[in-house]
Amino acid sequence: MTNDDGIEAEGLHALVRACERVAEVTVVAPHHDRSASGHAITLHKPLRVSPATIPGSGAVAWAATGTPADCVLLAVYGLLPARPDVVLCGINLGPNIGHDLTYSGTVSGAMEAAILGIPAIAVSLDAEQDPRYEVAATFAAALAEEVYRRGIPPDALLNVNVPNLEVGQIRGVQVTRQSARRYRTRLERRTDPRGRPYYWIAGERTSPEEAEPGTDSHALSHGFVSVTPLQMDLTYPALLSALGRWELDRLLRGGFPA
Ligand code: MN
Repeated sequence: MTNDDGIEAEGLHALVRACERVAEVTVVAPHHDRSASGHAITLHKPLRVSPATIPGSGAVAWAATGTPADCVLLAVYGLLPARPDVVLCGINLGPNIGHDLTYSGTVSGAMEAAILGIPAIAVSLDAEQDPRYEVAATFAAALAEEVYRRGIPPDALLNVNVPNLEVGQIRGVQVTRQSARRYRTRLERRTDPRGRPYYWIAGERTSPEEAEPGTDSHALSHGFVSVTPLQMDLTYPALLSALGRWELDRLLRGGFPA
């Protein structure tokens, strides 16, 4: 198990405690918050790991100086005595839907496992504050068992987002596709004490009502758990055939019509 919010994050602890009921759990998680680190791996400096403890759990745990993807590599190639049956990454504080997926350390940790051919699940809670992790943790542990029993293709992973509601208030589970949810990005320009400019990337999510039915965003905003199957192959099939008609060969000769 790993995450991107760091080894001290409550969401990780809740997921460990739920999964311990059904499996042997080993944790390799970032030493500190690596949210929005995407799929980065560390190639130009050493990685350090130190033993850690998860509150309320007996799981073997390690804190690592790297990213979520580093943690999966460290676990599989170094720290674990055997390949894990399933890799879980989460529970993230905040949803991972739409375009979040490319920035998400949570999804990237699961993607790294998928690259290694290990069934993987990314788990996120749709909360900004007052998170209730228990429903997401219980669901994720049961889903991990289901994934282990049924199997998923080696190039695949599941991206799970759970509303921040009591179990009785959740309307069900929807299998969804990734939405095209966007942010209204702002760039704030400020001035430092030495008079030089610096910048903050900021932004807010567009309204969930803009989401199409059948998407992760739509499911969440209507009180459903969203489960989206993802694949590592990013090819756009429709554009594949259209691009074939562009006769790109001629660009080799300077881009002029043959
Ligand atoms: Mn995070």
